[in-house]
Amino acid sequence: MAGMLYLVPTPIGNLGDISIRCRQILEEADFIAAEDTRVTMKLLNHLGIKKSLVSYYEHNKAQKGNWILERIQAGETCALVSDAGSPAISDPGEDLVRQCAEAGITVCAIPGPCAVITALSISGQATGRFCFEGFLSTAKKSRREHLESLISEKRTMIFYEAPHKLLSTLEDMASVFGAERPISLCRELTKLHEEVIRTTLGQAIAMYTEQSPRGEFVLVLAGASDETPALPTAQDAALFVARLMDAGMSRKDAIKKTALDLKLPKNIVYDAALGHSE
Ligand code: SAM
Repeated sequence: MAGMLYLVPTPIGNLGDISIRCRQILEEADFIAAEDTRVTMKLLNHLGIKKSLVSYYEHNKAQKGNWILERIQAGETCALVSDAGSPAISDPGEDLVRQCAEAGITVCAIPGPCAVITALSISGQATGRFCFEGFLSTAKKSRREHLESLISEKRTMIFYEAPHKLLSTLEDMASVFGAERPISLCRELTKLHEEVIRTTLGQAIAMYTEQSPRGEFVLVLAGASDETPALPTAQDAALFVARLMDAGMSRKDAIKKTALDLKLPKNIVYDAALGHSE
């Protein structure tokens, strides 16, 4: 019998979200390839399934991918899972799917939990057209470049983000899209403390300056509308501050007034005025 690869989505918080079909495939597969075998072992224990596990993650995928492929070609069935959600979506799997497709191996994706779709559907933003932008880079320059490439994007934009980077990401977003741009912050989806904050970038910054963000987040940002005004850039802010200072205002007051008038977060204006924005 020919082997095949199953992509098996797992719960993003609520264990009850494992489907009957996923459970059956995990039970029947010859082996399970998992991002973190300890995480998957907890799920298997919960389901009462005993199965041989192999690790397949970012840093061993080149070597392990070939080995998994050989086993499938020898007739075995592999179920690929990630720590949570759908494999291959900002998770290991993309390369394995490509390798299998190139080798003529059948790949079967089981529908199921996926943070991007769960967030979009609950966000209250337009769902007709959207684009998934994954994680932004940790490097400030490439994060800004990524966001600036989206400045005219009309579709709803979806981002994954870690809590410790949330505030600086919101600040970068506000400087590119404006503080008034609507955003839904979808936090701890399907978990006990699930929360959806439908607000603007400016208000989200104010909120998370007061309290540290906790838990897992998906950011669902409204696209540009026909009424979206041309946005002031960091350079505009620097110029504005310079003019006010030329007119005799102190730097502190000039930054405050610029932030207010251009509806930009104060720290963005501060950075721009001091030439730190690039
Ligand atoms: N492949 C997974 C999926 O399809 O859902 C996504 C994996 S990615 C490495 C993890 C990111 O997904 C988190 O940093 C967070 O942005 C988002 N995420 C996962 N579970 C979540 C949850 N329960 N609530 C909110 N965001 C979540």
